[in-house]
Amino acid sequence: MVYDIIFVIGEMFFDHPLSGIAILKRLLSSKGYKVGIIEMPQKDEDVMKLGKPNLFFGVSSGSIESMVRNYTPLKKSRKEDKNLDYDESVPDRAVIVYSNWIKKHFKDSVIVLGGTEASLRRFVHYDYWENKLRKPILFDSRADIVAYGSAEKQIVEIAERIRDKKTLKNIHGTCIIEKEVPSSFDELPSYDEVLDSKERFCDMQNMLSNNKNLAQKIDNRYILQYKSPKYTSADLDLYYSFPFKRKIPSKTLSGFEFSVVTHRGCIGECNFCSLCLTQGNKIVSRSEESILKEIERIAKMPHFKGNIDDLGGPSANMYGMDCYQCEKSCIDCSKLDRSNKRLISLMRKARNINRVKHVFIRSGIRYDLASPDYIKEVAEHHISGRLKIAPEHVNEEVLRLMNKNRGNLTKFIELFRKMGKELSFYFMVAHPGSGIKEARELAYTIKHLKNAESIQVFIPTPMTISTCMYYTGLEPKTKKNVYVPYTYNEKKVQKRIVFNNLRNKQRYSKK
Ligand code: SF4
Ligand code: SF4
Repeated sequence: MVYDIIFVIGEMFFDHPLSGIAILKRLLSSKGYKVGIIEMPQKDEDVMKLGKPNLFFGVSSGSIESMVRNYTPLKKSRKEDKNLDYDESVPDRAVIVYSNWIKKHFKDSVIVLGGTEASLRRFVHYDYWENKLRKPILFDSRADIVAYGSAEKQIVEIAERIRDKKTLKNIHGTCIIEKEVPSSFDELPSYDEVLDSKERFCDMQNMLSNNKNLAQKIDNRYILQYKSPKYTSADLDLYYSFPFKRKIPSKTLSGFEFSVVTHRGCIGECNFCSLCLTQGNKIVSRSEESILKEIERIAKMPHFKGNIDDLGGPSANMYGMDCYQCEKSCIDCSKLDRSNKRLISLMRKARNINRVKHVFIRSGIRYDLASPDYIKEVAEHHISGRLKIAPEHVNEEVLRLMNKNRGNLTKFIELFRKMGKELSFYFMVAHPGSGIKEARELAYTIKHLKNAESIQVFIPTPMTISTCMYYTGLEPKTKKNVYVPYTYNEKKVQKRIVFNNLRNKQRYSKK
């Protein structure tokens, strides 16, 4: 068979709506394109397996950036960890490696980059693993265009343009290289400027947005970002309505076969997270009807045993918080509907569907956006084991630097305990602003918490505000100095302080 489009990906392919590539494949196939998939190629000849596509190769490392996948937050290779059953099948900087392999064998093929790795390296970015600034990924990879974010609209438009022999300029949600900057574009500080000045790197960070046409000069050319297309509820309803087979061959995700995605985007704006630069900083919720229909379809599947594994999104309780009146940040806005009413209605209807015994919520929730009615509903009907929340830290200044200084954790825990249910907690050490003193404060505070077992070291992934702080040592908005734990030793000590405390706690509790 001759394919129109071939995706070369750094993860196992599974026909499930949790896989971005599966949605793209289903969508393109519904429009008549023949789509092939090459998963985790091991050597350059592997990209020749399906021949040359009529239109283009789509290249993605998958849902996880390859450097995060292959290295620990302390930069140790995961394959050296004997305790991990680690598969070494995805190369470092997979997007660049795969693109070079394709160009070697199919010189004149069009290459479209997508997924997390390409999306978050679309401008000049700090690379933690090399500890230096790198040029936009299009300058490193010999590819033609980046489709950033979820990219359904972009990929269909790109396929049509190539099929109709039209230019790839001016496609919303993409980046290309050009010699000139069109007049409607805001210009970011150039590569040379951000190399020379950390303040200019902060200026660049402050301008990043999916909602603007942006340009950045790299040597004598420009990377152009066309602003993201608007995705609507109806778009999402269509993408999740395809008849996915839902089988997941991967062990890590096998407990999520019957998960249902309710919405995209996040209004949380945590500084260490880049979701607002992929999925966007507004919520787009699917219609209740579409979600319930998906659950009805699942309930009829022969291997369904009665449990919906998860009903959620980037943050489970932001479903229904859609508002597009302005471009500002929603999290503190008085107009934001914090009642969780739409979500509560959805949860009640979902658990009443024939053959559904439980509808679990396993996606994390934002406790500062959880109404008492919602908490009660979750506690009484939707918890499998414990509910996950991510307070991340307890020190006020660290929380401010994370942009997570909202809500009252103690009150939330009390309310939840009164309902006889358990929480589990995620915390982070070595974020900018966190020194040994702050790690000790965290260790002391969580000594009193049950199930605070997930302690991560901050990873400066590309394009986040926290990464900008890590690289520059400055708060990007104010340009004030911020303490940053840089050394391997200090990060390790911070982690040990908190972990030792937990170990002691477990030892005492066994006595
Ligand atoms: S709530 Fe979660 S998804 Fe949203 S910005 Fe924070 S970490 Fe990211
Ligand atoms: S009015 Fe408030 S809630 Fe609505 S989009 Fe603007 S900032 Fe967000």
